[in-house]
Amino acid sequence: MAAYEEAARRIPVGEGAQVIVAGGGAGGIAAALAARRMGCTVLLIDKALLLGGLATQGLINWIEPYCDGEGHRVLGGIPWELFQLAIRYGHDSLPDAWSGTGHGPKAGRLGSWFSPEAFMLAAEELLTREGVTLLLDTRCVAPVMEDGRCRGVITESIEGRTMLPADVVIDATGTCELFARAGAPTRTGENYLALRAYAMDAQSQREALEAGDPYVARRRLRFGATLSGKGQPEGMPTVAGVTARETTDFALAARRMLFEQMQREPRLAMDVVNLPQMAQLRTIRHIVGAATFLGTEDHARAEDSIGVIPDFMYPGRLYELPYRSLYVPGYAGLLTCGRTISAEGWGWHASRVLGPVFLTGQAAGTAARLMLDWQGEPWAVPVGRLQEALRKTGLAMHVDELGK
Ligand SMILES: Cc1cc2nc3c(=O)[nH]c(=O)nc-3n(C[C@H](O)[C@H](O)[C@H](O)COP(=O)(O)OP(=O)(O)OC[C@H]3O[C@@H](n4cnc5c(N)ncnc54)[C@H](O)[C@@H]3O)c2cc1C
Repeated sequence: MAAYEEAARRIPVGEGAQVIVAGGGAGGIAAALAARRMGCTVLLIDKALLLGGLATQGLINWIEPYCDGEGHRVLGGIPWELFQLAIRYGHDSLPDAWSGTGHGPKAGRLGSWFSPEAFMLAAEELLTREGVTLLLDTRCVAPVMEDGRCRGVITESIEGRTMLPADVVIDATGTCELFARAGAPTRTGENYLALRAYAMDAQSQREALEAGDPYVARRRLRFGATLSGKGQPEGMPTVAGVTARETTDFALAARRMLFEQMQREPRLAMDVVNLPQMAQLRTIRHIVGAATFLGTEDHARAEDSIGVIPDFMYPGRLYELPYRSLYVPGYAGLLTCGRTISAEGWGWHASRVLGPVFLTGQAAGTAARLMLDWQGEPWAVPVGRLQEALRKTGLAMHVDELGK
């Protein structure tokens, strides 16, 4: 590849924070909230203008079940608070048994659809009210690494490049972009084509009137393949999504499927009301951390557990997520959360849905506070203290604490 040598330049140092959270998706929201509640100054930066990542801009607005499939809620703490917030100002499809409106699939489990816009607005208000500083339309382009420790981030925005100092940086980019740029070991995934969008039509508008719930007027459109690849267009390769070219081609191919349908239908058959603002890639890239969650650890004890998660696909399975999946040995001052924790195989799928994403966000935000007392070294944090802080918010660290 041809190379161009960019000239070195001096850039301004802006106002950072004790904890910078890079990325305001579901994981970043929970991380920022947790770090702030632990008493840290927190700056949450997102390249988009809206918070929520895939859960809002990406139109992935279904919260997979929080229960064990046997009638018990598994997730408490910030994950449960954010679940309730997601449905407080708009639609829910919780089954009646979980005190919902019952407008939706009544599979019986504690999961729900929510309005992405209502959740975005509510999350923005909550973070602002609690004292998290938001910086939007700003991309974190590199971690500032000095002697193996992250000291802040370099950002790009309308102002150009700025260095923002921090004691701890939480990489919640959904692609572990900062770990990757720091040279930390990472793994990429394989993604089938997917497009989720919303349209309204005459039938859905009638149903909304009957339900007394305007959200019901949005009809969910699904194109492309399932999680297991069923429905992948013939000859189309899977993609990792770690280059701009791949992401662009993925988004164009996904949207083409929708447009072809529109061309086949009568002009006024439907009105497309929401298109995703992010490529709907499930597993882009994650860190190779000090421990890797595999999804085979059903009911197994993890001594450094940061909380118990249910399995959205297999009722009855419960996993304890290891704290060590949030960091890479040798990279001080850096943590990750959400869909980029160290997880492989089924573990990557089981841990990247919203409940577990909120959970790892809360754990990262809490650990960030403790890291301030331990020279920014995540591996030096006393796990017992981290677990105690998480327990206090209503999270179970081990399966036997669920009180079933
Ligand atoms: C097709 C599909 C279907 C899914 N179905 C479900 C489902 O039904 N239920 C469920 O619970 N989950 C589902 N998921 C998974 C879930 O939506 C995601 O894994 C989860 O929302 C990821 O959250 P996150 O915060 O880790 O990352 P993201 O949502 O990717 O958030 C990352 C944020 O960081 C920002 N960002 C990225 N790079 C930078 C940067 N360099 N600087 C600043 N900001 C940056 C982005 O703008 C974004 O806001 C699905 C995912 C896909 C793709």
